[in-house]
Amino acid sequence: MRILITALALALLSGCAQNPVTGQNDFVMMSESQEVATGRRADVQVKKQYRVYESKALQDYVNRVGQRIAKQSHRPDLQYHFTVLDSPEINAFALPGGYVYITRGILAYLNSEAELAAVVGHEIGHVTARHGVRQQSAAQATNIGLTIASIFVPEIGSTGGQNIANIVGGALLSGYGREHELEADRLGAEYLARTEYDPQAIIKVVGVLKNQELKDAELAKQEGREPRRYHGLFASHPDNDTRLQQAVGEASKNAAPQAHFEGREEFLRSTDGLLFGDSSDQGVVRNNRFYHGELGITVAFPKSWQVHNLPDALVAVSPQGEAMLQMKMDQKPRGIPADYARRLVGSGAQVRSLDLDGLTAATFELPNTMGGVIYHNRYAYILQAQAKARGGLSTHRNEIFDTVRSFHSITADERKLVKPLSIRVIIARTGDTYAGLAQGSPLGKSAETYLRLMNAQYPDGEPQAGQRIKIVE
Ligand SMILES: [Zn+2]
Repeated sequence: MRILITALALALLSGCAQNPVTGQNDFVMMSESQEVATGRRADVQVKKQYRVYESKALQDYVNRVGQRIAKQSHRPDLQYHFTVLDSPEINAFALPGGYVYITRGILAYLNSEAELAAVVGHEIGHVTARHGVRQQSAAQATNIGLTIASIFVPEIGSTGGQNIANIVGGALLSGYGREHELEADRLGAEYLARTEYDPQAIIKVVGVLKNQELKDAELAKQEGREPRRYHGLFASHPDNDTRLQQAVGEASKNAAPQAHFEGREEFLRSTDGLLFGDSSDQGVVRNNRFYHGELGITVAFPKSWQVHNLPDALVAVSPQGEAMLQMKMDQKPRGIPADYARRLVGSGAQVRSLDLDGLTAATFELPNTMGGVIYHNRYAYILQAQAKARGGLSTHRNEIFDTVRSFHSITADERKLVKPLSIRVIIARTGDTYAGLAQGSPLGKSAETYLRLMNAQYPDGEPQAGQRIKIVE
């Protein structure tokens, strides 16, 4: 009852709970200025968690495309911010108040400015229909207490594993559910139709990302990593999705006469040289082994665990999520590793000194936490496992200590794996095939599949002579 009264009071206070898209009153407890303030606060968290991609030219390009569409939206007066994030994840998302993000990971799979506009238009649709705000209000009303800011605050060190889901998931990153996603697609198509882009680009882009998702699930298994999927995708392929076809078809009917600009050349020129996959300054993960070239270290996490290489944390989570193992670095360690370990977890712990092929180290063990401290080039690396519940580490004891013992200085061969990859646009010559281009590619045994997906020629088709295509080197 008290919740309901508070909710009503807030709705009255905020006054403008009218939905910009439907014109109807929503159950929304937030005024536009509150919405913008919420977005601005969360924007700081997003940029901390995912860094901003360092290319002014690319940021400007995405911003130009975004602003053009935003002006034709249901909320043209809102101040929009478009940011390319330095993440290999395939994602785009929006915060309330006009903050829109697109990863360099998703850009790698797009092939035209119209497709970029489609992704951005979909996210603007989430903003104009106030999906984030509506979701947050619903959560407040049912007293779940979910706030947008908390989704992006890890706090793993202090509280154990229970916030892991918040780091890698969260409502904003995983989408808003079928109805809201479809609405965002419909609005995106409508905005494209009012500019110079073909609304059908929405269906095209959903198809490209759906193919990527289906294939990536297989590739991820082979490579021992998490699959990369876009939040706005659902079970059916867009070719069989009649509701999506209908929503976009409606927009196409009303499209402006000039709405057929594809902008393939413009897009490929702007994304030539784009970083692909993990970037080297935050290390790379291959087959669950983490490599860091500049620090000169490598460590192998348990085979079945999910490794998350986030800018501010390296975290591995056990298959059932009951245990997690985090690696931290201390640039000014004091004393020998055994002393360090005792200070870290208390004198009651079982601490053993060990020599890891010339590196001084120590393991520590308590019922609820265990791991090791390794010294390498004046820095200390701390691998510490924690469980959600008491006893949650017991079945993982061997895996955890194997991880500590796997730590070593990077070898010359391993260093080759760390080299960052980037996209290069080339002009196909007569006789070029994806199988041929895949030979000797740093993408390894799945190179042909990746090249096909990136060039939207999956599962078949070959490059035409004179066609611009993307390769990775
Ligand atoms: Zn969406």
